[in-house]
Amino acid sequence: MYKRDYYEVLGVSRDAGEEEIKRAYRKLALKYHPDRNPGDKDAEEKFKEAAEAYEVLRDPEKREIYDRFGHEGLEGRGFTGFTGFEDIFSSFGDIFEEFFGFSTGRRRRPRARQGNSLRYDLQISLEEAFYGKEQEIVFHKTALCDSCNGSGLRPGSQPEICPTCQGRGQIIRSQGFFQISSTCPSCRGQGQIIRDPCPDCGGAGKVRVERRINVRIPPGVDTGSQLRLRGEGEPGEYGGPPGDLYVVIHVEEHPFFQRQGNDLVCEIPISFVQAALGDTVVIPTLGDEEGTELHIPSGSQPEEILRLPGKGMPTTHGHRRGDLYVKLQVKIPQKLNPRQRELLEAFAETEGIQILQGKKKVKNFWKKMKR
Ligand SMILES: [Zn+2]
Ligand SMILES: [Zn+2]
Repeated sequence: MYKRDYYEVLGVSRDAGEEEIKRAYRKLALKYHPDRNPGDKDAEEKFKEAAEAYEVLRDPEKREIYDRFGHEGLEGRGFTGFTGFEDIFSSFGDIFEEFFGFSTGRRRRPRARQGNSLRYDLQISLEEAFYGKEQEIVFHKTALCDSCNGSGLRPGSQPEICPTCQGRGQIIRSQGFFQISSTCPSCRGQGQIIRDPCPDCGGAGKVRVERRINVRIPPGVDTGSQLRLRGEGEPGEYGGPPGDLYVVIHVEEHPFFQRQGNDLVCEIPISFVQAALGDTVVIPTLGDEEGTELHIPSGSQPEEILRLPGKGMPTTHGHRRGDLYVKLQVKIPQKLNPRQRELLEAFAETEGIQILQGKKKVKNFWKKMKR
């Protein structure tokens, strides 16, 4: 890959002094700094190019090799430039602090991370799923410590800059031209040390808390429905956003209605006479205190299913409702009184059926078989 001359990159003459080189680099570093040019590939390349040029020209030994042998001379000695921003920031951390001031210089810091999301399982009845409801839920979660606002410091005290890494979170060892950086073991990359921890969280910055919130359950929810409560999960790390809370709905079985999506299914017992003659009965339906009239047509058969449109569950979107399917359980009386028997025998006669009793019945049965 073609590399531009380092003096040309920084825009200085070949006999430029240390201060002039530093000033030239500062100007370029400010201009192409990634915080000012987010996502700009060209600026990124210029920033890296300038950093590499400065890395060589600020070091008398490397500069001499470069002056005598050029890029190849450095490469021959293992100099490869920088692989990325992190590399540059960890090598030039102190220089950037001087350039930009402590607050705008990028310290190597762990990346912001969103907090964990939480799950809460909520059991409700079918009626509650039908009408919707507001319910308070109580759960435990990790939250930022109120006393120290998550810093882990005793209120009023200051963190100490880590003496091992001078606040960079990284330690850099030089081996000839190579610079090897690794996470600082004293502060575990935080760059600071808490000498006086917050008494409420022991310096962790987080505490376990009991949380109570009102959840609005919309009508029509079903088992497996999830309600997402934004930001009610655990707090983020290093300034990241908090996670969410997912309330997962479980609708209990109902003694009378079974649910099939937005439809409901139920069974009602009717007598064989109602099935034969037809009738109108009142059955319980959700949302109607008085129940709903169901017309049973004459000649209805056992297990027949009748449909009541719009008497099912509400849909979560819009105002439609599913249907109610009513299955007829036709009951045959197990005991008859003499009057009922008389009437049924008379009815049988009209159908051409002779109702026989006891032994006579068996004999008659065999007679029929022989024929
Ligand atoms: Zn605290
Ligand atoms: Zn440290």
